[in-house]
Amino acid sequence: MTLTVGAASVLAPNYHPLPVTLVEGLGSWVTDDEGRRYLDLLSGYSALNFGHRHPALTAAAHAQIDRLTLTSRAFDHELLLPFAERLAALIGPLVAGPPMVLPMNTGAEAVETAVKAARKWGYDVKGVPADRATIIVVDGNFHGRTTTIVSFSTDPDARRGFGPYTPGFRIVPYGSVDAIREAMDETTVAVLVEPIQGEQGVVIPPESYLPGLRALCTEHDVLLVADEIQSGLGRTGTTLASELWGVKPDLVTLGKALGGGVMPVSAVVGRADVLGVLTAGTHGSTFGGNPLACAVGIAVIGLLETGELQARATTLGLHWGARLDTLVDEGLLASSRRAGLWAGLDVTPPLTGRQLCERLLARGVLAKDTHGSTIRLAPPLTITVEDLDLATDTLTDALR
Ligand SMILES: *Cc1c(COP(=O)(O)O)cnc(C)c1O
Repeated sequence: MTLTVGAASVLAPNYHPLPVTLVEGLGSWVTDDEGRRYLDLLSGYSALNFGHRHPALTAAAHAQIDRLTLTSRAFDHELLLPFAERLAALIGPLVAGPPMVLPMNTGAEAVETAVKAARKWGYDVKGVPADRATIIVVDGNFHGRTTTIVSFSTDPDARRGFGPYTPGFRIVPYGSVDAIREAMDETTVAVLVEPIQGEQGVVIPPESYLPGLRALCTEHDVLLVADEIQSGLGRTGTTLASELWGVKPDLVTLGKALGGGVMPVSAVVGRADVLGVLTAGTHGSTFGGNPLACAVGIAVIGLLETGELQARATTLGLHWGARLDTLVDEGLLASSRRAGLWAGLDVTPPLTGRQLCERLLARGVLAKDTHGSTIRLAPPLTITVEDLDLATDTLTDALR
């Protein structure tokens, strides 16, 4: 259960994991190196929306690994267009305008791609003067870890020590359409938001926020970019969290669950007239859209096409939410927020989120704290109601 001193000394200290070493996973369960089993309620920050080693995903990966794994984009391969077409069919109806797909690998790369596409669209199409484009982001955002992305983070740990920062971003308070309106001018090319802020603790915006942003962006010919890397692909009971408010973004970033926990697979999906500005040579990735990633991605899309998992997240989420509300009513939790099978729980001091996660670990449930007093729960969408109830019983016990 403990990290060896040797391993800790050569591994860069940029994480502080819970003291557990996992060796195997299947569905909602993982096993550690001492044979203890745990229910995984973190699901790789929603990368494992379909649980560990979903048979459809491992079968697709195994078959492709024995066939062709990498071509680079210098050559075409048989799965690239099918992947783009299937993803466009799934996400296209949920975005504004006829869709295009640009495959990348990690979430941060998808966000960087959206930033580049928005800027280039601003110069080539909107007519913003060269090098003047601005993008508006909100307080408490999490969009990844690259130097440009941490430039517009408001988390001191994520940002401090990594300057000089990339200019061209305006940070406004979260949840206010007026704040974004005031920050807009003729240089504004995009508003970049997470429909629900995951890293911040599953923070759900006011009802009118996203519809207000949509209307504002349309009015000023500004792109609404929704980072759905954590909120998307079934987590909230819908394919995109944006659907909860009936909002169609201009660009959507996807990652995490798009690779089913097997591969890093990300993409930007959105208006063809915007992504179309990224012509040959202007942007790329050695691994983006590789055959193995496309095989897994297509299998992931196959799991989402019927809508069954999304419906399941809604139904199970209502049942789960009622139980979580009881914990708040009983005073065991300070507050809770939930959308589908995604919850942010605030503990009551002096208990910290980390302490609660340690108690859960000792009782066979894996979860992760965020921002001191909050824990974030994201069970696999495939979890059984019995396992979900077991996890909630364990949470209740840990809080008592
Ligand atoms: C995880 C995450 C990212 C970054 O994804 P990586 O694959 O870790 O680069 C970006 N945006 C959101 C909302 C995320 O949750």
